Amino acid sequence: MPRLSRPATAVAPALTALALTCALPAVAAAQLIRPAPGAPTTLTPQQQAARAIYKEMVEINTVDSVGSVTRAAEAVAARFRSAGFPEGDIHLLGPADAPAKKNLIVRYRGKGKGKPILLLAHLDVVAALRSDWPRDPFAMVEQDGYFLGRGVADDKSMAAIFTANLLRYKAEGWVPERDLILALTADEEGGNRNGVAWLLANHRALLDAEYAINEGGGGTLMDDQPAFHSIQAAEKVPVNYTLTVLNTGGHSSVPRKDNAIYQLAQAIGKLERFTFPVALNEITTPFFRETAKVEMPSLAAAMRALVANPADSAAAATISTDPRYASMLRTTCVATRLAAGHADNALPQTATANVNCRIVPTSTAAEVQATLERIFGDPGVKVTVRDRGERYGAKPSAVQPELLAATTALTKQLFNGVPVIPTMSTGATDGRFLRAEGIPTYGVSGIFSAPGETNAHGRDEKLRIKSFYDGLDFLYQLVKRVAGPGTPIG
Ligand SMILES: [Zn+2]
Repeated sequence: MPRLSRPATAVAPALTALALTCALPAVAAAQLIRPAPGAPTTLTPQQQAARAIYKEMVEINTVDSVGSVTRAAEAVAARFRSAGFPEGDIHLLGPADAPAKKNLIVRYRGKGKGKPILLLAHLDVVAALRSDWPRDPFAMVEQDGYFLGRGVADDKSMAAIFTANLLRYKAEGWVPERDLILALTADEEGGNRNGVAWLLANHRALLDAEYAINEGGGGTLMDDQPAFHSIQAAEKVPVNYTLTVLNTGGHSSVPRKDNAIYQLAQAIGKLERFTFPVALNEITTPFFRETAKVEMPSLAAAMRALVANPADSAAAATISTDPRYASMLRTTCVATRLAAGHADNALPQTATANVNCRIVPTSTAAEVQATLERIFGDPGVKVTVRDRGERYGAKPSAVQPELLAATTALTKQLFNGVPVIPTMSTGATDGRFLRAEGIPTYGVSGIFSAPGETNAHGRDEKLRIKSFYDGLDFLYQLVKRVAGPGTPIG
């Protein structure tokens, strides 16, 4: 197994920096994309069908408050109707006061031997301004071995793949041992009508499943070759805290020692110098154990040492030299916004800051609040939780054995047998709502990309054409394996 010559999380820094600055004219930036090899020259009928669904989804603008998730959900529902799925198994549901935010639930009936498996993908995408892009972000194009367009990576690839595969199972007459539920939802990216949360609150039974397969996982390419395959089985919980300092203020020509801005600045200084303790869990321990097998020697040694002894601070320090690994080790809190003062010539009466924390699933928002208050050591700095995220602080779920076995077997078959690594994502998905409701959720896709290459949420979002079709094949087989052998084809 090839050892990496540089940290797995490293991308070609030069490329990223230039693209991020976006100082270059669009055309020059586009030329920076290194062609991706391996795109199939001729497509199978199944690949053609999946590509058509993908293109239709990408070309429907589903951005919160400007586009319509409902339009995309209805387009997909029409495909299931014309494929002969019973009307009673196709549900378009959403808040009455948000007509553009309908979610689609489709049930594919099995033999009822065991609880269903839920296939989850969100249809909404983050904003994409035409003026920012070298082309229309809502026109899917193929260029240099990539699909380009808003949502091609996050998350319309999995939405299209699940849809195409369900239609294929039906066309092939395959009847699984247990039901499959497809949920294509709204407002994962923001907006105030999160589809999964709304469905759990209003139509819980429609989503009830033994476990869910969702975004958040996938494969990593190094030098165009598979390096490892991640299964996301846990995620950190995003919670925002507001720090508030109040002061009587006064005229700025007579400054005093006490000052709301200085007081807040001192607290923020303490936050900057504070590092939360290492908190490994049943997902991050195997993550580091397995990642050590593919990481460069110095990092690999530190990872093995930390797994052996989580109190090994020297090992933790070495691993933390890489911000992505550092954020896997512990809770993180970072100041993201500041606001203070009401006039140039007045001493500030109020100073506030937003602190965005990513809390490890073994901790809670209340524990982190107490830690912040302790490190500030100043009752004048009021710490409040801005969004009561408690409801979704669920414990990580160990990877379901049959899912892990099937993923490992297919990774051997399709991706050179690279390590399958359980992982905890530092970003959030809708899996947090499902886990909190007792539905274990795993990010698995079989979709490989080089680190940072997709530029999800950014300009020129892209996905390798080869990776889309590999993912189509991987998920087709994976779902068949975990949903039970069922009635064989033909
Ligand atoms: Zn997403």
